[in-house]
Amino acid sequence: MTSDWEKRLAERKAQGAPKPEPRRDGFWTCARDEEARSAIFPMTDEEIVAIVSYMEASTAHAQCLGFANCRICNVRLGTADMITPDGKWIFPERREHYVLAHGVRPDDDFVADALAWRRKRKDG
Ligand SMILES: [Zn+2]
Repeated sequence: MTSDWEKRLAERKAQGAPKPEPRRDGFWTCARDEEARSAIFPMTDEEIVAIVSYMEASTAHAQCLGFANCRICNVRLGTADMITPDGKWIFPERREHYVLAHGVRPDDDFVADALAWRRKRKDG
């Protein structure tokens, strides 16, 4: 006899593996500038182009209340959480400001996904 949980497991298998939750990048957990500055690592020109195109091709995922300001120069950024075109990452709107104005490198996996996404677009 098949138990309930075995049926549910079989159903879930039939639906295919669940999509992994998108990861988060560029959300400062506190307002200290040191935190932002400690995230600065060099990027190659190819990485910058891939990161910024990946971010520009992203769409709004959730709208927040109020604007976020840059933690380094206090310029006004956005109000939305953005999701990358491949659904893998969520990041704050205008995150590319940190890349372009301050050279703040995203998570290494974010950079790898941006490069892979751009390569796929160029090939396809
Ligand atoms: Zn800034």
